[in-house]
Amino acid sequence: MATIGFIGVGNMGGPMARNLLKAGHRVKAFDLMPDPVQKVVDAGGTRAASAADAARDVDAVITMLPAGKHVASVYTGDKGILSVARPGTVFIDSSTIDVKTARDVIAAAEAKGMLMLDAPVSGGIAGAENAALTFMVGGSDAAFAKAKPILEAMGKKIVHAGGAGNGQAAKVCNNMVLGITMIGISEAFVMAEKLGLSPQAMFDIVGSSSGSCWALLNHCPVPGPVPTSAANRDYKPGFAADLMLKDLKLSQEAARSAKVQTPLGSEATALYAEYVEGGNGSLDYSGIIRMIRDLG
Ligand code: NAD
Repeated sequence: MATIGFIGVGNMGGPMARNLLKAGHRVKAFDLMPDPVQKVVDAGGTRAASAADAARDVDAVITMLPAGKHVASVYTGDKGILSVARPGTVFIDSSTIDVKTARDVIAAAEAKGMLMLDAPVSGGIAGAENAALTFMVGGSDAAFAKAKPILEAMGKKIVHAGGAGNGQAAKVCNNMVLGITMIGISEAFVMAEKLGLSPQAMFDIVGSSSGSCWALLNHCPVPGPVPTSAANRDYKPGFAADLMLKDLKLSQEAARSAKVQTPLGSEATALYAEYVEGGNGSLDYSGIIRMIRDLG
C-alpha cells in the first residue's frame, strides 16, 4: 500500500481521498481550507502542514485543484512541490485544466526526475463518492504503470489516452460534445412542446431513434422521463452550469491553440456564458432549457 499526499480535498478531492483510505493507502491531506481536511482526518488520514509537507516522503501525490493557475503554482511556484518530493515520486493531477499548463507542468516534473500524469475525471461528485470515476490519463507508460493501482481505488474506468496533456485534451473534447448535445436536445424538447408533443412521447421516440445521445438518456432536461435527472429537483446539480462553462472555455482555448474551428463549441460557450451571467451558474447545466424556452 502506498503513502499518498493529497492536495485539494474539496467536493471531488475529499471523497477521492477517503476512497484511497478505504482501499488501505495512507493519505496526507492538505487544503487551504481546514474543514475539508478534517473530514479526511476523521476517515483515518493525517493533516499535512502545507502542500510541500504533503509531497515530502510519499510514493505519490494527487492534486484536485480548481484551475491551471492553482496547479502551476502548487507544482512549480515558490516552495512548489516538485522541489521537495523525492525523485521517482509519481504526481497525478486530476484537476480539469488547460492542455498547455498540463504539458508545461509535466515537462517540469520530468526535468526533475519525477513521474507525472494529467488524469482529469468524469463522473462528478457521485462518481467520486462511489469510487466510480472515469480517469482520462496522459503521460508516460512508466508513470501510468505506477499510478494505475492508485487510480483504481478511486475509479471504475482508467484510460491511458497517450502522452502528456492528452487526458485534458480528451476531457475538453468530451465536455464540448456534452454541452453542444444538451443545447441540441433542449431546443428539440422546446420545439416539440410548441408542436404539441408530450415530453414523455418525445423522450420515448428520440431516445430510441437516431437523435438519441448520452445527455438525453442520462440528464434529460425535462422532468419525468429520467427520474434521476436534475430536472426533477428544480435543476439542483448534478453538474453545475459554472463547471460546464469552465470546461467549454477550456475547449475554446484548446481549439485556438490547435488552430481548429469549432463553430458549435463556440456557440455553446456563448449560450452557457449567457445562462451563467443570468445568475444560473450554481444550477445544473441541463437548466439551460429554461433559457432556451424563454427565447421564444
Ligand atoms: P472544490 O472547489 O470543491 O475543491 C477545490 C479545493 O482546492 C478547495 O477545497 C480549495 O480550498 C482547494 N485549493 C485551492 N487552491 C489550493 C492550493 N493552492 N492549495 C491547496 N488547496 C487548494 O472543486 P471540485 O468540485 O472539487 O473540483 C476540483 C476539480 O475537479 C476542478 O478542476 C473541477 O473542474 C474538476 N471536476 C469537478 C467535477 C464536479 O462535479 N465537481 C467533475 C469533474 C471534474
